[in-house]
Amino acid sequence: MTGYRTLDDADLADKRVLVRVDLNVPMESGRVTDDTRIQAILPTIRAITEKGGKAVLLAHFGRPKGQRDESQSLAPVAKALQDRLGTPVAFASDCVGEAAADAISRLACGQVVMLENTRFHAGEEKNTRDFAEALACLGDVYVNDAFSAAHRAHASTEGLAHLLPAFAGRSMQSELDALTQALEAPERPLLAVVGGAKVSTKLELLGNLVRKVDVLVIGGGMANTFLAAQGKKVGKSLCEHDLTGTAREILEKAADAGCEIVLPIDVVVTKEFKANAPHRVVSVDEVADDEMILDAGPNSVEHVKDKLNQVKTVVWNGPFGAFEMEPFDAATNAVAQEVAALTKAGRVRSVAGGGDTVAALNHAGAGDGFTYVSTAGGAFLEWLEGKALPGVEALRR
Ligand code: AMP
Repeated sequence: MTGYRTLDDADLADKRVLVRVDLNVPMESGRVTDDTRIQAILPTIRAITEKGGKAVLLAHFGRPKGQRDESQSLAPVAKALQDRLGTPVAFASDCVGEAAADAISRLACGQVVMLENTRFHAGEEKNTRDFAEALACLGDVYVNDAFSAAHRAHASTEGLAHLLPAFAGRSMQSELDALTQALEAPERPLLAVVGGAKVSTKLELLGNLVRKVDVLVIGGGMANTFLAAQGKKVGKSLCEHDLTGTAREILEKAADAGCEIVLPIDVVVTKEFKANAPHRVVSVDEVADDEMILDAGPNSVEHVKDKLNQVKTVVWNGPFGAFEMEPFDAATNAVAQEVAALTKAGRVRSVAGGGDTVAALNHAGAGDGFTYVSTAGGAFLEWLEGKALPGVEALRR
């Protein structure tokens, strides 16, 4: 990775390394119920300790709104990390001041300490200079390994990077590598699949993608707004009729940029929004007034598969239909499985992420088959929108 400073560039021997990680893990009754995020930071912690550094972990948890709230303490997460890491993880009851300084002063090279929730202090989200300096004086080097928090300019995600030598951690590095290869320097043709509920939440994303991709496949509820923009009747379907003008503008922008837009040609319609409701497959010209579109039809799926077989890179965000309810998950499943199969065969690179996408791909049994699945929700979407992420920008060479 050439554009950013990474751990490979850092001399960490005997250094206090402040590492911003994402430990906002799901927890029930004081126990971590899913430790995916804990596993994701292990390579970074090990790289730091192997280089002889002292790893000082900084993270937020929940939304304590700048005040101490014991119910949002990171102490149980430190315990879960220790179990995973297989070596002791000390814990400091505050992320700044004496408690933090004492815990860090007791560390030998190669040891790890986790500091309490950064959001117990209002200066974190406000990114105040005082709070960033109170953090900075605890370390010699800063490492950011929390891509999922990089769209926020907080003290521990952005402010610190301007006060200490700053580097990307391993998980941040893999995320940036995958995203850069997919959208900034992709092997072409490049196809994006964008689905999900509404156009209104993805306007910027669609506007950015039509400028960058060769083929844009639009699915899910948002496709209905585009169909309505083309004068099709969409019955009771989820549709933002007030945005048909905007949808037409996006289609025009795509035509100007030479981006091919793929919309459904047939759809699965029903009269009730519930699993296994009676349904039928119709052409997009035949949706009745009392029907709603809940999925793309089999001809649409074949059409998308055909397009997928002609490209080298795929970026995916958002489900193709109301995938939480059978049988309206069929198009999402079929398209996701095709991308996974093409990826496994070495024919495409595929990157997916944002919102419900991870759940939709896992539901399809296809998540493991993608080249890279980002678990960062908001940050992934902002990246797809073409926005600069403050936490990432601060790591540029
Ligand atoms: P998003 O968060 O924008 O990615 O939207 C995801 C949601 O869109 C999921 O809960 C899907 O059930 C929903 N969705 C996808 N297609 C449709 C559709 N045709 N009608 C209603 N909801 C849909």
